[in-house]
Amino acid sequence: MMSIRNIEHIIAPPPPHMVGDGFRVHSFFPGGRLIDKKRMSPFFLMDYGARIEFGPSNEPRGVGVHPHAGFETVTIAYHGRIAHHDSAGHSGIIGEGDVQWMTAGAGLLHKEYHEAGYSKTGGPFQMVQLWVNLPARFKKTKPKYQEIINASMGRHILADGKSYMEVIAGEYRGTKGPAFTFTPMQVYNARLVKGAAAILNLDARHNTGILVIEGKAVINSSEVPADHFVLFKNDGEEIKIEAVEDTILLVLSGEPIDEPIAAYGPFLMNTWPEVEQAIQDVNTGKFGYLED
Ligand code: MN
Repeated sequence: MMSIRNIEHIIAPPPPHMVGDGFRVHSFFPGGRLIDKKRMSPFFLMDYGARIEFGPSNEPRGVGVHPHAGFETVTIAYHGRIAHHDSAGHSGIIGEGDVQWMTAGAGLLHKEYHEAGYSKTGGPFQMVQLWVNLPARFKKTKPKYQEIINASMGRHILADGKSYMEVIAGEYRGTKGPAFTFTPMQVYNARLVKGAAAILNLDARHNTGILVIEGKAVINSSEVPADHFVLFKNDGEEIKIEAVEDTILLVLSGEPIDEPIAAYGPFLMNTWPEVEQAIQDVNTGKFGYLED
């Protein structure tokens, strides 16, 4: 029997900070008062770049060369475009509505900037970056990218015929998302027209949250404004959503990874010696080389 999954907290956006000079983000977790480093596992970190306007710039804003190891970065672009380059020679552009699912795994260096064309004109910019943890058995997996363009995402049309669940990873009522994931998880954009309703049925054991990207929604009878994050209890399956305005919601739900966490800067390992090893690997060139 399905039972309602209750809300644990509705969290207002924490004060923003800059990542490099291109990403103005609200870090909802970890480290917030309400969400410790395991509460949303397998999602370790969520940086939300709420919508802002960047002016034109000939020099693309962004963040220079830095390493990652032991997890995946998932970058979702809602407005604006992001360019990336890595130490294995890969590069690409994350366009509006697209997702880049980067498995850092054993380790790489990369840099993330506003895409040159977007930078020249400026305009609205809005994005999310998630850090998805990897279990110990996959931490050393070879780095790779999944470029998930919007057209490749699963699209489950809802009862009003206009609203839809855009499935990035996992499955919504038989509609599957294209992302390969190392552990079970659901990542959707609910794109709802004013007045639309949607029901989510998610495993009660899976940690679950919803970020309101745009508009306003009533979620299990609580009204939640834009830029707020809803953390759910693990006490039931069913979540009811009604769109008060045209609304976009980012839905996250995943099986917790029940392992120790040693997190330091851009490294997410199980033990401190593994973190020290990763730092040494960067310093001895094992993550490759990338020009700033
Ligand atoms: Mn990065």
